[in-house]
Amino acid sequence: MRHVIALDVGGTSMKAALVSPDGAVLHEARQPTGRHRGADAVVGAVLGFADELRVRGEARYGLPPLAVGLAVPGIIDADRGIAVYAANLGWRDVPLRELLTERLDGVPVALGHDVRAGGLAEGRLGAGRGAERFLFVPLGTGIAGAIGIDGAIEAGANGSAGEIGHIVVRPGTAGAPCGCGQRGCLETLASAAAVSRAWAEAGGGADADAADCAKAVASGDPRAVRVWQEAVDALADGLVTALTLLDPGTLIIGGGLAEAGETLFSPLREAVRSRITFQRPPAIVPAALGDSAGCLGAGLLAWDLVTTGTASTTGAASTSNTTTEVTA
Ligand SMILES: [Zn+2]
Repeated sequence: MRHVIALDVGGTSMKAALVSPDGAVLHEARQPTGRHRGADAVVGAVLGFADELRVRGEARYGLPPLAVGLAVPGIIDADRGIAVYAANLGWRDVPLRELLTERLDGVPVALGHDVRAGGLAEGRLGAGRGAERFLFVPLGTGIAGAIGIDGAIEAGANGSAGEIGHIVVRPGTAGAPCGCGQRGCLETLASAAAVSRAWAEAGGGADADAADCAKAVASGDPRAVRVWQEAVDALADGLVTALTLLDPGTLIIGGGLAEAGETLFSPLREAVRSRITFQRPPAIVPAALGDSAGCLGAGLLAWDLVTTGTASTTGAASTSNTTTEVTA
């Protein structure tokens, strides 16, 4: 059977799959990224993992993979196939496409940005199916965004479109410093990591995380309710800015914080509704693909490369396929 390899490299684990032409996952695997072993070792692990998948696919289907889709975090230059910078992996200017094509004896490789790949998958296969225009916002360690338009992801002129996590929602010197150099960014207030931090400080305990905070909210702990509402308010401020500009029909919220379900979505819908005036409220829905989105999106990138000859989270119509993320 004709198939491609999809590979999503995260800070702690790598997910890979063999994917059929109709998008079915034929085989799935997961490995630790092993970033404690250093940047070069992580590159070696990526190449080795892809090779394992190649061998498995060839043994099972008697054919080499037609392409590889590789989704990575950080700043990437998709045109040149280079991982420019990934803080959490220690990468600087790693020519991933060339290295991987060489390792796999010439199999073509599409390199994509993890969040945009995830957005591509949510748009074509998940919560954005049927939505012509959507905004996908995963709330994890950081906050990023993918702007979906007609089944493709808009990357912007320089590949930095969608960086909603770095919209300043608390201007002035009181805002917490962000890794991007600004203060008061949405990411410092409403990422899963930010909520974990705030809840630990507010009495949740040193090991408290966002999920603990959500549980404490559900049980009515007033300290947790305060922390949670501050995050929801910041998130609504950022989202209203984005939807005022983009007018998406659907707002897809994913990442660790979205796992709180209605504990997040009920107050968030209310907070957005209370802020908008002339804007049409979008449907605010949870992401459907969970942490498989990036890997499924990598599979779509690979098939796009096979069928159209272009490898881009922006889709075939775009002239730019460089993607960037300000913080990893
Ligand atoms: Zn920032």
